[in-house]
Amino acid sequence: MALDLRKGTDEIRKAAESSGGGRFTPFIGWKDGDVKLVHFLTAAQEIPKVRLHAFVEIPTDDGTRWDTFVCRKDPAFREESGNTCKLCDEIGHVATDKFMALAVELEATKEGKKIKSVTPAMRKFEDREGNEREVPQIGLVIQGAKNFFSYLGAYDEREDLSDASFEVQREGASTDTKYHFFPISAVPDLTDIEVPSLESIIERMGSEEKYETDLEGVLPGSQKNWSKGGGKGSSNSKKETGTAQPTGNLRSQFEEIAEQVKGKSAAAEAVS
Ligand SMILES: [Zn+2]
Repeated sequence: MALDLRKGTDEIRKAAESSGGGRFTPFIGWKDGDVKLVHFLTAAQEIPKVRLHAFVEIPTDDGTRWDTFVCRKDPAFREESGNTCKLCDEIGHVATDKFMALAVELEATKEGKKIKSVTPAMRKFEDREGNEREVPQIGLVIQGAKNFFSYLGAYDEREDLSDASFEVQREGASTDTKYHFFPISAVPDLTDIEVPSLESIIERMGSEEKYETDLEGVLPGSQKNWSKGGGKGSSNSKKETGTAQPTGNLRSQFEEIAEQVKGKSAAAEAVS
């Protein structure tokens, strides 16, 4: 199946070198009941499966922040890392396989119920000089195959993913979560839009530099085991360490992280 493709180290390296890729890309996530109109920017056969450390808990001066890393035991990094990973081997954080694609959030022009045309939704931010700037809401969709990307793979076997946009609705908040996809034949005009390279994003999320810098002060045994029902059965899952302590299920945590990353993204753009 096309979706099982994993990118080789060389390919990722090449893409990272050619694109620079200094900009932070936010996540696009759904909470229970959310409906978002999106167009996928990554071709179906290019959507990689990635071994991911999600919800890595990192202590900060005033609490906790959450971060996402690509595992350095992912086949793309295995050669470089000698198949070692600080999160797996030292800190004891559990990695899971997810699929990753870039998408842009859209706004629709409707006639009655029917969507006639779509344009990229824009996000405003203030740059370093205090000028208001706008960027299209391009983000990273990180989901499993079941429930999400398997649908898009099946769709692409019938129609090109690139010729469609989707209204995606999330229903449910935990293991019963379903995503409903409503395909729309309108696509946004992307002529003047700079799309970041997915490979360079993955490269950055699994880079030795990120592991060195961002995992400072993260201790062995400090992490919850999200893969087992949101920390149930994990000895430290109940401790109250402040307001940043997550509640709810794993998928809603993506939303929390996405919110944090949005702020970080605006800051990163402000200095770029
Ligand atoms: Zn790992």
